[in-house]
Amino acid sequence: MDRIMLSRALFKLIRKAVVDLPGDVESALREARNRERNERAKTILGNVLENVELARRESMPICQDTGVLVFYVKHGTVLDKKMVETSIVKAVQRATREAMLRPNIVHPLTRKNTGDNTGVKTPIVYYERVEGIDYPEITVLAKGAGSENTSTLGMLDPAGGVEGVEDFIVDSIKKAGGKPCPPTVVGVGIGGSSDKAMYLAKKALLRNIGSHNPDKEYSDLERRLYERINKLGVGPMGVGGDTTCLAVHVEDAECHTASLPVAVNPQCWAARKAEARIYKKKIIFL
Ligand code: SF4
Repeated sequence: MDRIMLSRALFKLIRKAVVDLPGDVESALREARNRERNERAKTILGNVLENVELARRESMPICQDTGVLVFYVKHGTVLDKKMVETSIVKAVQRATREAMLRPNIVHPLTRKNTGDNTGVKTPIVYYERVEGIDYPEITVLAKGAGSENTSTLGMLDPAGGVEGVEDFIVDSIKKAGGKPCPPTVVGVGIGGSSDKAMYLAKKALLRNIGSHNPDKEYSDLERRLYERINKLGVGPMGVGGDTTCLAVHVEDAECHTASLPVAVNPQCWAARKAEARIYKKKIIFL
């Protein structure tokens, strides 16, 4: 695929991400609405679902904050990174011009808006080499500021054990309250280093709701956290109720014997992501 075709394919991917909420998230919101016992919370979940349908029907962004875009590129042995990055920039600029994306990106100190959602090291792109892939698979995650601003990192005392980890995560969601626009998907990164844990917490948001960490220690932790977080009573948009999170996804890495990094990255109810396989002449949405 040449640069122009790739940029067109990426534009379609961005539009899909910001307009069409993934089916797993929509189903989880629907199940939560049916289960919810708090009337105000039930109404909010109903409004959210109506908004999801409207955005899809009208081909409009699901939320006015189209967030910061983070691209994850899985690739095989050969990848023209320069072409991928140029195509991403072109696609993001076009999506902004065509009002699919709000111009959100500013210089961090002067706060001057770049005007097209691109700039220094922006959009964010991560690469991962995977055996057996002939064509790149690209996922885009749209991350709103409301949820991103409640991300936390703890360099915990290993002596606190699993209980310390669990308490830190639950406390972080409690402190966030209604700010991340709950119900959230809670991304958690455990281990590695401070930066790796943060990376894993966000990457955990790419997993589909209903999936679990393959290691039983972590999948049990995911289930316990889901139960505890939903007992906090924060509820949809912070109005109270049974539904504070839709899922907890834990990703892990080994770490130094004297360290225990734990990162929490909540994603709002508008948990927008889209993934595609980029073939020579076509794009397949996954
Ligand atoms: S946190 Fe999510 S739902 Fe809330 S305003 Fe930001 S993008 Fe929209």
